Amino acid sequence: MTRFDTFNADGVRRLYEIIRRVSSSTDLSEVLEEIAQGVVEGLGFGVAAISRLEGDTFVMAAVGGDDEVRDQILGRRTPAEQIIKREFSIADHWGILRFVPHERLGPEQIEGLWVPEIEVTDDPDAWHPLDTLYAPLYSSTGALLGNMAVDLPPDNKIPNQQQREILEMFVVQAGLALENAQRRQQLSRQVQLGEALKQLALLSGSTEIDPALEKAADAIHGAMPLGQVSLRVFGDNVDDPVDHSAGAPAPVGASDHVVRSLRADLVRHAEAGHQRPLTFSLRDDDFPALTSEASLRERLVAGGWTHGLLAPMNVDRDVLGYLVVLREDSHPDFDADEVDAVHEAGRELGRLVRDVRLRRTERRLLVELRELDRYKGELIATISHELKTPLTSIIGHTELLEEAGVQPASVGAIGRNAARLDRLVTNLLNYSRIQGRRELERVRLDLAELCRSSAEMLRIQAENAGITFTLDLPDRPVWVNADAEELPRVVDNLSSNAVKYTPRGGTVVVEVRAAGGHGEVAVRDTGLGISTQDQVHLFSAFHRSTNPEALTIPGTGLGLAIARTIAEMHGGTIEVTSELGTGSTFVLRVPLA
Ligand code: ADP
Repeated sequence: MTRFDTFNADGVRRLYEIIRRVSSSTDLSEVLEEIAQGVVEGLGFGVAAISRLEGDTFVMAAVGGDDEVRDQILGRRTPAEQIIKREFSIADHWGILRFVPHERLGPEQIEGLWVPEIEVTDDPDAWHPLDTLYAPLYSSTGALLGNMAVDLPPDNKIPNQQQREILEMFVVQAGLALENAQRRQQLSRQVQLGEALKQLALLSGSTEIDPALEKAADAIHGAMPLGQVSLRVFGDNVDDPVDHSAGAPAPVGASDHVVRSLRADLVRHAEAGHQRPLTFSLRDDDFPALTSEASLRERLVAGGWTHGLLAPMNVDRDVLGYLVVLREDSHPDFDADEVDAVHEAGRELGRLVRDVRLRRTERRLLVELRELDRYKGELIATISHELKTPLTSIIGHTELLEEAGVQPASVGAIGRNAARLDRLVTNLLNYSRIQGRRELERVRLDLAELCRSSAEMLRIQAENAGITFTLDLPDRPVWVNADAEELPRVVDNLSSNAVKYTPRGGTVVVEVRAAGGHGEVAVRDTGLGISTQDQVHLFSAFHRSTNPEALTIPGTGLGLAIARTIAEMHGGTIEVTSELGTGSTFVLRVPLA
């Protein structure tokens, strides 16, 4: 015979049923009810009552036994401390059960106790109406989750060893059921908090802070509904400490004084290397960094808020604002998942505020840059216009002097320098004109023909400079749609540069061909070449090579900038390959017509 055969086969059957239910059911109150009933019906106790620990109070959640008893005690709330300190401390330990014999109870313990109506006898094994038998319900990690109390044992006798052992098994199941429920609750909280953080992360592309903050407050409140969520972003102005704010379920104001003091607290906190949220509670007078601010404390008390979480909105140690979640006395404390979520939310919002502000600065700078660029264009145009008129007059009068036979060396020098200035002003005018130009007047043009005319003009210059100038043209025309005034400027500039920067004895070849949907003009020279560093800025306005040899040759550094702009306006490109001391090749490509 096994030991249970002598006791209660019914109890074991109920236990087996309950074990299955505990692992499969998600309805906690149903399972607890079943366990309480099992203790009554299966083990023969008159009453079994299971309470759940909520904060620091045991709340009676399931009662097995008489309906009258159940009505009396279901939902009853008892401070956990009362049972743990007053009763467990004087109890006998029966394994995980706690038995307090009636004679140990003082008037304090008796008060509020449910007392069954049974007779008191002399039998030392008899159950006395004031005897109490409890079982604290623990999780597998040792956290107290509830309490089970039983009364009226079978035959009104103090339970024997076997009865206690099987009762313990019911107790274990009740503990497990509470633990499972707690885990499920925790898991669903984590999912909820995770969802809120996901919503916050989705706000990261926002362009405005206010609507993003409002959404963030709603998302946080959605995951932490018991309380008030307030978000504030600090302003740069000392007189106006809040730049943006939002709150849920509704926005709540904060005085400038309070915001300033919280800011100072959080900055101090961050400078000390802390970024975790601060938890504070008026209940325990645990008001860490915030104690400095008496008026805040008063406001919280007036609002009924007793505990809260305060987290910086930060990017590393830079505190840009804060978020605070407040709760009332009756609501539970913040658990570790909530603290983590608020911490993460603070960082997410810190990044959001920084990014929106950066984008705003970027946009402002862009507008300023555009304005500056426009101004630069205007300045160049105005100055070159103003220079052009007196220059023309100087050149004209120099020519008159030469014609009149006045020919001291200085007249020649005036003429040459005036011509040089004139080239600079013409280039400046061209540059500002092309920068301001939006549309081209396109016609069908033969690139080969264009290069032939350009070469005509250059051939004499090349001959004078002792350079072999070759034109390599295809048999057929290379048609492109181009502006008949602008595109020739590009070819002229590339070929005249090639001649200009090639020493006596060198060669310049201009080759035209159609390739890959483009008309191409390649200008090759065996000249000075351009260093890799100089190539980087070659097409910027006013850039001239740092090569001293090239610098002795007069130039403005505007030709290539103008040429590239014109090429691009045609949907084309200019590329360069060059080696210092060997020569350069510039290739212009324009889409074929
Ligand atoms: P500019 O010739 O009036 O100075 P460009 O914009 O046409 O202005 O050219 C910019 C600079 O690029 C020149 O000052 C010169 O140093 C360099 N460069 C241009 N073309 C050549 C080339 N074919 N060979 C060597 N250097 C060149």
